Amino acid sequence: MSTASDNNDDKNDHEQPVDADAPPVEEATAEEATTEDGAAEHPLSEQQATELLATPLQFVSGVGPQRAETLARLGLHYAADALFYFPRDYEETPDLEQIESLEEDQLVSIHGTVEEVDIRNTGRGKSILGVLVRQGNEYLRGVWFNQPYMIHRFAEGQKVIFSGKVRNKGMRWEMNHPRVQFLQEDDDVEQQTGDILPIYPLTEGISQPQMRKVIRGCIERCLPAVEEVFPTEFREKRELLTIRDAITEIHNPTDDETLKQARFRFIYQELLVLQLALALRREQLSANAVSPALPATTKIDARIRRRFPFELTAGQSQVVEEISTDMALTRPMNRLLQGDVGSGKTVIALYATLLAVAHGQQVAIMAPTEVLARQHAEVLGQFLEASHVRTALLSGSLNGKPRDELLAAIKRHDVDVVIGTHAIVESGAEFDKLGLVVIDEQHKFGVRQRAKLRQQGDEPHYLVMTATPIPRTIAMGLFGDLNISTLGESPPGRQPIHTYQATEEKRAQWWDFLRRKLREGRQAYVVTPLVEQSETTQLASLTEMHQQLSSGELKSFRLGTLHGRMSSAEKEAAMRDFRSGETQVLVCTSVIEVGVDVPNATLMTIEGAERFGLAQLHQLRGRVSRGKQPGFCCLFADPASEEAQERLDAFVETNDGFELAEIDFRLRGPGELLGTRQHGLPPLRVADLIRDAEIVKLAREDADALVEADPGLASEAHAKLRRMLIKRYGKVLELSDVA
Ligand code: ADP
Ligand code: MG
Repeated sequence: MSTASDNNDDKNDHEQPVDADAPPVEEATAEEATTEDGAAEHPLSEQQATELLATPLQFVSGVGPQRAETLARLGLHYAADALFYFPRDYEETPDLEQIESLEEDQLVSIHGTVEEVDIRNTGRGKSILGVLVRQGNEYLRGVWFNQPYMIHRFAEGQKVIFSGKVRNKGMRWEMNHPRVQFLQEDDDVEQQTGDILPIYPLTEGISQPQMRKVIRGCIERCLPAVEEVFPTEFREKRELLTIRDAITEIHNPTDDETLKQARFRFIYQELLVLQLALALRREQLSANAVSPALPATTKIDARIRRRFPFELTAGQSQVVEEISTDMALTRPMNRLLQGDVGSGKTVIALYATLLAVAHGQQVAIMAPTEVLARQHAEVLGQFLEASHVRTALLSGSLNGKPRDELLAAIKRHDVDVVIGTHAIVESGAEFDKLGLVVIDEQHKFGVRQRAKLRQQGDEPHYLVMTATPIPRTIAMGLFGDLNISTLGESPPGRQPIHTYQATEEKRAQWWDFLRRKLREGRQAYVVTPLVEQSETTQLASLTEMHQQLSSGELKSFRLGTLHGRMSSAEKEAAMRDFRSGETQVLVCTSVIEVGVDVPNATLMTIEGAERFGLAQLHQLRGRVSRGKQPGFCCLFADPASEEAQERLDAFVETNDGFELAEIDFRLRGPGELLGTRQHGLPPLRVADLIRDAEIVKLAREDADALVEADPGLASEAHAKLRRMLIKRYGKVLELSDVA
């Protein structure tokens, strides 16, 4: 049995009146007297249709004020709400039979009245509950073993339907653990069996049969008022059920196949509306804004590449080409570069940076942490030795006069490349000619949080980089307004990385191995456990670890520490010492998680590994697979659940960030990883970006084609789709509504 729209379970999602936040699938507009789909039998006037759909549920037959209050708790206020309140699941209930005509082992439903309830304790906490149901002069007994609490659900005289397999017990029929439906006096018995029945998310005070009745009533009354949103030709091309057929079928399926079609229609519709919104945003971002055209001429290209100490890989060259193609246009680039840890994204950012600088533009490079910003500044400094490019680091700890001077220099264009954290935005830095903004490790910033930098004149190009690979369809679903480049392969000569999960007994052996490697000249990270919400506790555990190691296992080595509570000067010193080899072992918190690049560090111990997410673990491990030496990563963990151990197993088994991301998405759901707060989009109601990956793809293609053929979706044929997407996504995506 297929499972429909589990999303509907969330009651809070429904506590809105129909037109405040109706999801796109719930939209029901009543615009024209007749529809494309030939509902001309009894054409409703526009006003009639609108009124019908807006009928308060209280006035729908069989509801009344009290039930209306209950329904309101589920977010159901008007008839239209009920039409689009989709089942969360379905059940197939066997046909009704008369007791007198039963056969052994038959799977049936029996309708009757509870005559007698008895419970027998059979010792040692065991019990048998019997519920005798009468149908005319015939009886059937429902039996439950060891579920004494069930007794409270039954009362004498209660009308019920028992469904299950029947057994002849001599004088009487019995059914073990039947599925029970409790009926009200006026419930239609026939309608509760025989078909594929919807199961709705409920709340206290309303039963499944009652909910079915309410929704059936609304469909009977209001269906003709629901307007198709797709142009007929388009709908037929995609072989979609009409919206009316789909509503009927999703609530009351004829068979599995039609149910599938009905679900497909709503999933597709929801995803198409999302993709259209993203496509329109792409269109508007580029239509309203003009960026400087920064072509990579052969000469510039050669000059940039000469600065790199290595050849770009084929993958890097490919991405560089995609970026230069974008930057050559006056339409602002809006590109997401995703590549696994260590795949070599930095050099690509530098390429884009130098391309912009070659055209006399300024560049802002933003990293999520100061450690990383500083590292970028250093790498850039090395690459740019003896060049005329002027770079500056703008960090949060820069204050007073030096900071004012730097801001003034940026404004005067005495600085070409500004590297920093989010402080660049917060400082209110104003640029003279900002041609490019690079945002590294975007997942740390929150996707919708576009860096708003002040500049004169044209819009900058945007390059966003992430090392948390997002499965492609998810990326498409959530970042459809960005163009995506993917860096697949790693730079050549990368050594494999060995990952272990060790038990406590193996600790000594690991430290033994680590000491040997340190003596060979390698360096190591020791990552202390992540302590939620408390930097103080985190610091305590780091200090303890440092003390333990420096007086114990790693007594004869040079240890350093790095954590978020250090001042930026201290952090800088700690990183410098580690990079130079002065520090052999860096005891640290997860601040090193993103981007830190010290190729000689090939060993990593992660304590309390169960507390880290998969993506985070992978990021951490990425620190020790950067050089020409094999990396070794050893986890110590105390997983509290099976799921936690599953994640660790996956982590030990594969080093492919994309694969791990998929596993993580599957285990925890995208919501958890890319919390709504982060991507900022309202939750999907019926679609699921992973399960419906194929439909996401189709919707993206269709959306692109539609917007290409009808820019701004301005034509009359697309008016309804357009209105729907503006309503749902207009605000979060800052879509303007002028067609
Ligand atoms: P990430 O994608 O995680 O940001 P980096 O850009 O830090 O990865 O690159 C990881 C390491 O690979 C760096 O030490 C970098 O110098 C090196 N690297 C990048 N590209 C190449 C290449 N084409 N050939 C050799 N080494 C490379
Ligand atoms: Mg990086």
